[in-house]
Amino acid sequence: MNKRVIAFQQVLNRQPIQPPQPNKPISEYFAENVFTLDKMRKYLSEETFEKLKEAIDKGTTIDRKIASEVAEAMKAWAMTKGVTHYTHWFQPLNGETAEKHDAFMEWAGEGRVIEKFSGNQLAQQEPDASSFPSGGLRNTFEARGYTAWDPTSPAFIIDNTLCIPSIFVSYTGETLDYKTPLLRSLNILDKAATEVCQYFDKNVTKVVATLGWEQEYFLIDAAYYNARYDIQQSGRTLFGHAPAKGQQLEDHYWGSIPERVAAFMKDFEYECHLLGIPVKTRHNEVAPAQFECAPIFEEVSVAVDHNVQLMDIMEKVAIRHGFRVLFHEKPFAGVNGSGKHNNWSMATNTGKNLLSPGKTPKNNLQFLTFFVNVIKAVHDYADLLRSSIASASNDHRLGANEAPPAIMSVFVGKYLSNVLDELEKNVPSGKMSPEEKTALKLGIGKIPEILLDNTDRNRTSPFAFTGNKFEFRAVGSSANCGNAMMVLNLIVAKTLIEFKKEVDALIEKGQDKDEAIFQVIKKYITASKKIRFEGNGYSDEWKKEAKKRGLNNFTSTPEALQVYHDKKIKQLFTELNVLTEREIESRLEIQLETYIKKVQIESRVMAEMVHNTIIPAALNYQQKLVEIVKGIKEMSSVTSITTANNDETDSLIAPHLEIIKEISERVNTLRKAAIDMTEERKKANAIEDVEKRSFAYCEKVKPYFDTIRYHADKLELLVADEYWPLPKYSEMLNLR
Ligand code: ADP
Ligand code: MG
Repeated sequence: MNKRVIAFQQVLNRQPIQPPQPNKPISEYFAENVFTLDKMRKYLSEETFEKLKEAIDKGTTIDRKIASEVAEAMKAWAMTKGVTHYTHWFQPLNGETAEKHDAFMEWAGEGRVIEKFSGNQLAQQEPDASSFPSGGLRNTFEARGYTAWDPTSPAFIIDNTLCIPSIFVSYTGETLDYKTPLLRSLNILDKAATEVCQYFDKNVTKVVATLGWEQEYFLIDAAYYNARYDIQQSGRTLFGHAPAKGQQLEDHYWGSIPERVAAFMKDFEYECHLLGIPVKTRHNEVAPAQFECAPIFEEVSVAVDHNVQLMDIMEKVAIRHGFRVLFHEKPFAGVNGSGKHNNWSMATNTGKNLLSPGKTPKNNLQFLTFFVNVIKAVHDYADLLRSSIASASNDHRLGANEAPPAIMSVFVGKYLSNVLDELEKNVPSGKMSPEEKTALKLGIGKIPEILLDNTDRNRTSPFAFTGNKFEFRAVGSSANCGNAMMVLNLIVAKTLIEFKKEVDALIEKGQDKDEAIFQVIKKYITASKKIRFEGNGYSDEWKKEAKKRGLNNFTSTPEALQVYHDKKIKQLFTELNVLTEREIESRLEIQLETYIKKVQIESRVMAEMVHNTIIPAALNYQQKLVEIVKGIKEMSSVTSITTANNDETDSLIAPHLEIIKEISERVNTLRKAAIDMTEERKKANAIEDVEKRSFAYCEKVKPYFDTIRYHADKLELLVADEYWPLPKYSEMLNLR
């Protein structure tokens, strides 16, 4: 039976599932399933609590005695919630999360067991890690990896398991996850930014980076998902003609949320709140069946963990509600794709957002310092930033006409553009007179405290200043933000370190502090000018202009990843101890391998569907037409009306013959393209060098996708509705 028809009937019978009704204010159950600092205080001795807190704040290591006490406390708390198991929870480089559950259980003699959880078990686990990607870092004989507790992210409960956020390293000490380099980059940024803050405020002793992500996603009915092999295997539709009504009426964005969808949202938000994930905003997005959710921002490492948890929760809750959630960047051609805007800033221990202008000239000089340093960082490391968001799935979005382009640029808005231009013009090159200094300070003193102006927004920029934070918009919806955030922290830290060196050198030469800061800011404004762009990032003019400016436009992942061969980039990572050369190479290899595998899977699925689904459907329908033609011919030979009038018979069968012919032509083309593509895949697979293989997949295999899809989609339009087995866009995108 036609899978599409079965799915359609299931969808018609769907009823909304009642979401949980906590009937309490969120504040009463928020973080109920998290071992928060607040709970630790209750379960730990005061001394241990203080030591743990210090270790979290300063990033220092925790000794075994503290670990034992914390383990005991965690177990005691978890057992009050019916927990029986624990797991180290980590983020290996396959882009998923990993967990292996163990019970709190040990022999107690005489056939009995007791609940036990030691400091050692909390601090470290040794999973057999040989099946996680390592990019050649581990041979089988040293396949062991370690997971180690990351106390900066609190433990939480899923079902009956205590999850302990952890980092993942190889037996030989190399990092095998997203978390470790992220934590390192945060430490480096803390140090670099704190030192620069000291110019302005001696009370600043710590700077944290903050992240508020905005998660976009699609929902489709599970019945349709089950009828679409392509979505199941690759997360996106590899076929499907655009619907007559897509997003052109702009009637979906912020529209009213369908009841079934609202029930799903309430359900996953409730689960998030129990886990201390501060989701706050929900709305319909631009494309039909597309939505967004966003939390209150948090410290970067916790925010990254929370985003990963959120995606996991959403997938599970969606199934409960008869949906499937699609995090793929481009699940449907012809309508908008999904991103994950990363709103990023830095905050001090004194409660100041460093990217928010203040009330006084001094505050504003501090704001400008950090603001300009971020722009300079993006300028100097634009290609690295581009590579940090590269993936096979994000390639569909970057450069397509709805998402930020693959060209990195920074949007700051008209007002701040003027401020930067004025500074560039008015800061004198040599020594400043007292009048000049006063004038400059007065000038920047006028920067309004609140720059949040919704009219001055540029949705086409990949990296935009939005009043009190930068919004990195090119991050993909399915990505772990850890990679992009690690790179951003790192390049800003590096720029701040250089900034401080330059300022200090000028101070040593006898200039006063403010003067020196103004000088270096001016220098950075000039040096980073080409990265600033206020116009339409989707336009062809920008592509030309960017080329003139010497900005790269890497539209594919293999191209974007080339930056890791750059000496300057290797040095950046090694000099600041974020990744060793071996780790960089292994990560590059993993990313290229992942890219190849993703394209390979899509290519296989496409060919299978051409042979097993699309051609048979078309031929079935063609067979029907052949029968009709036969029928007409038979009829004309026996009835008097048309006897002896061959012309009339011909005209009766002509339209059918045309369709029969078109089907044959398209089927031939499709078959040939699918076979040729498979041949190209074979050739690509034979290439030893992973880099060359990735280019072969990108340049030789992938181009077939468009041809194949084009003809298959034409067949979808041609074949009678009842013969077509794949749920259509108009059905999948119409949520009820
Ligand atoms: P938008 O109009 O882009 O949706 P919002 O002001 O609603 O802007 O904020 C979007 C996201 O930015 C939210 O997740 C919010 O928590 C986050 N955000 C706001 N301030 C900061 C900050 N200082 N650092 C990091 N993220 C922030
Ligand atoms: Mg936004």
